[in-house]
Amino acid sequence: MRKTSKSYSVRGELKPEERFFKAVKQLKVDRLPVLSANSAVTAEIMEKLQIFMKDAYSDSKKMAELASTAYTILGFEAVGVPFCQTVEAEVFGLDVDWGKKKTTIPTISYRGDVAPEGIDVPENFLERGRVPMVLDAIEILAERFDDVPVFGRVIGPFSLASHIANMEKILRMSIKKPKLVVELTEMCIDVIAEYANAMLERGADAIVIENMFASADVIGAKGYATFAKPFDRELIGKIRGTTILHICGDCTSIIEDMVETGASCLSIDSKTDAKHAVEVSRGKAAIMGNVDTVYTLPFGSEKDVRNEVLRSVEAGVDIVAPGCAISPLTPIGNVRVMVETVRSIGSER
Ligand SMILES: [Zn+2]
Repeated sequence: MRKTSKSYSVRGELKPEERFFKAVKQLKVDRLPVLSANSAVTAEIMEKLQIFMKDAYSDSKKMAELASTAYTILGFEAVGVPFCQTVEAEVFGLDVDWGKKKTTIPTISYRGDVAPEGIDVPENFLERGRVPMVLDAIEILAERFDDVPVFGRVIGPFSLASHIANMEKILRMSIKKPKLVVELTEMCIDVIAEYANAMLERGADAIVIENMFASADVIGAKGYATFAKPFDRELIGKIRGTTILHICGDCTSIIEDMVETGASCLSIDSKTDAKHAVEVSRGKAAIMGNVDTVYTLPFGSEKDVRNEVLRSVEAGVDIVAPGCAISPLTPIGNVRVMVETVRSIGSER
């Protein structure tokens, strides 16, 4: 692949990678970074490139090619892989559901084991399933993008445990057999850390921990404090680099706990109160978010997108980003409006 990372850099401006790292450390930046922590692959892009989910997950070059479009087509100032949260669970023996359409983001078909007994932590994790392919894709991206941050995405421990045990069962277990939930979640930490550190060694600049099931919307604030926070914290302690902790839904009630995990940056969804998140995280973690991905980005007008971006900026986020993975239905045009809105605001903050 051709080296490219200069198209958006004007003389005197920070390069995207410098701007990202400064923003994460809450240092002064020339303007806000605008990027996506989570997947930003859309159906329109897949059609354009004729690279669909199954192609991207069977060939590291195609995976890197599709990931590059977050920068080259959408204008986001970061790229990252993979595009779903199924890679780790598949290594644990779970089946991947590729969906009905070529553009569907893969998910996990639940197996529903209930106890850690009988579940083996796979040996040689880094050599299994699609893990080597994702690591190769990171190396390709790191070689291609000198000045643009490359993200490696891993699943959070509670979410991996929820895949292994089946979400419904884990919710019941959390009441009846909380110790089992803890054991199952603990079991996931070391392999995720090993995977994340391998991503960093292969050239990733930061690790995104996608802990979608640990949302306060799903397990409540008490559930997060008991079943997710200690393990997010332990995982983050083991990752030798910058970390972005992403949790979906309304996490207003758990922001303090998320800050205490030690993550460098918290990626928050549109339902989370960004102002509150910014207030409680100053000096401890950067806040990234929280543009709505459910309605505004896929279905909103250009004006809706602009207003939504301005809402996040006014709340004081350090990095403007979609609140979650972008829906495959999102038009390229709306993302470009999001990016241009941030750039046009410039440094007046
Ligand atoms: Zn999310």
